[in-house]
Amino acid sequence: MSRSITVRAPAKVNLHLSVGAPAQDGFHPVMTVLLAVSLYDEVTATAGSGLALSLRGEGADDLPADERNLAWRAAELLAAHAGVPPDVHLELAKQIPVAAGLAGGSADAAATLVACDALWQTRLGRPVLHRLAAELGSDVAFTLVGGLALGTGRGELLTPVLATGEWHWVLAVADGGLSTPAVYAELDRLRGDDVPPLREPGRLIEGLRVRDAHTVAAALSNDLQGAAASLRPALRKTLREGEHLGAQAGIVSGSGPTCAFLVGSARAAVRFAAALSGAGVCRTVRIVHGPVHGARLAT
Ligand code: ATP
Repeated sequence: MSRSITVRAPAKVNLHLSVGAPAQDGFHPVMTVLLAVSLYDEVTATAGSGLALSLRGEGADDLPADERNLAWRAAELLAAHAGVPPDVHLELAKQIPVAAGLAGGSADAAATLVACDALWQTRLGRPVLHRLAAELGSDVAFTLVGGLALGTGRGELLTPVLATGEWHWVLAVADGGLSTPAVYAELDRLRGDDVPPLREPGRLIEGLRVRDAHTVAAALSNDLQGAAASLRPALRKTLREGEHLGAQAGIVSGSGPTCAFLVGSARAAVRFAAALSGAGVCRTVRIVHGPVHGARLAT
């Protein structure tokens, strides 16, 4: 039987996302706080001849199974870097909704780096994997590391944030995705030349450090929220409904359209998820907690 390695990698929620003016290359500098949450994609890498990819689960029918897939690109990049042939069959089992602002594609890429490094016994080590991850996309580095981190640059320069305990969330998953570049373009359009300087997440980080839910709830912020809601006005209703149903706070995650609601406990999450689901303001709900670990071998 062929040797297989399975790695799982988490989704992320941005608790703070401050976006600066686009640079010459079109990329926006960000200052963000990223939380890895307990919703995972799994990548199984099996020895094979040549590169092949198959997908199942959430959104699998809408995704390419070729070099346009971020997992494919991750395997090719790792092979080129290590000087080995990219001989692997990748099977992606997706639970993270696609184009949802939850970094699902990035999680698949991070999981693929770890899985292929183990399968091919290239033993590149975490610093090199981290560099390759950052080359693949700004959230790939974070889904590799996981936990809770401050991200600067394009979000790939990470510093761990110390926090106490677990935070409970309910994710409201929308029908259909939003394109990240389209949301950034909408932000630019709405702002015009009036771009504020990057905001530091000092109050949020202090709230996370001392586990003060009120401070954390009040400090959640996302510059892309207005742009996402401008493209998808129904998000405003979802956020209003979540607050009405008793969430401590609600925020659009990354470029959306997923809304993340902070709740006080695992039990409150179950109650809140049932109520939100019944309100009919989203396609489905997911109960998650974080911080959780980054991409690692599944046991
Ligand atoms: P971002 O990480 O840019 O915030 P997102 O989290 O909103 O994006 P993803 O699920 O990562 O969304 O997918 C964004 C796009 O990336 C998809 O529309 C798809 O075309 C492309 N993509 C490539 N590979 C994958 C993959 N393995 N899983 C999901 N999307 C992928």
